Amino acid sequence: MPASPFVPYNPITRVVVDYSMRGKATISWELCPHFFETEPWSFQVQVADSQLPTAAWTNVGNPVVGTLTTSIQDTTLRLPAGKEPQLFYRVVVTTSTPNTYISPVANVLGDLPKFLWLKYQELLRKELLMLSRHHVGGNEGILLRAKRSGQPCTACTDPNTEEQTDAQCPTCFGQRFVGGYYQAQAKVYFDNQPLSRYQLLDLQNRGNVNDATVFMGRSAGYPLLSTYDIWIDKTSDIRYFIHKVDTLYHVRMVPVAHQISLKLIPFDSIIYLFPTS
Ligand SMILES: [Zn+2]
Repeated sequence: MPASPFVPYNPITRVVVDYSMRGKATISWELCPHFFETEPWSFQVQVADSQLPTAAWTNVGNPVVGTLTTSIQDTTLRLPAGKEPQLFYRVVVTTSTPNTYISPVANVLGDLPKFLWLKYQELLRKELLMLSRHHVGGNEGILLRAKRSGQPCTACTDPNTEEQTDAQCPTCFGQRFVGGYYQAQAKVYFDNQPLSRYQLLDLQNRGNVNDATVFMGRSAGYPLLSTYDIWIDKTSDIRYFIHKVDTLYHVRMVPVAHQISLKLIPFDSIIYLFPTS
């Protein structure tokens, strides 16, 4: 169905374009927390060489479901995505209702003028390099972004209060919405301290952990992350809630690096059953 130009609200609140990986553009988006339409939602990235709604918007890549991010290879574009500031992106979401909504337009420069964007890219590239190089700088992990919108859990929602009643619910993973999390995002590096062996053995004996166990770390300003998302250490499969995200430094309010605090998730949590691939 054609995209409606008039919508009561825009469920996609933000679109971010990242080129820090050579040869591809990664497009990420965030959803309004009041977006409750019937899932599945299908997201299609479109490009145009103008940001006007009347521009010739064309689909790139395949539609994706169950994720807030997708990568477009340069080779699939008419124009080289490379570092082309005149390329604009938007995301079209189609729900099962069905309804179609169009996101705000984003381009590679974001809200930055070009000279600052170039500086930002250089700083972000250095940050990512420092975190990922030879597994020395940081720990490789997997990011699960928590759902903040969608269909309220069909299994454990109390019909009277509309609150979710089961922290170990296999339908919402204790996260309110069906599915609980979006698809896992690989290769997200944090430089948090690993658990010491002593603590690990102690925790396993108890089968549970002190809720206040907090680990500090650092992550790059990209990918997007928020409180209640989950970071999984790839080597150990130990899982953490992202407890707090602070900007460590930024270029005109666009974060280059974050300071993060992580809370260990008890080993008997249902979250350890969420698939990572
Ligand atoms: Zn549930």
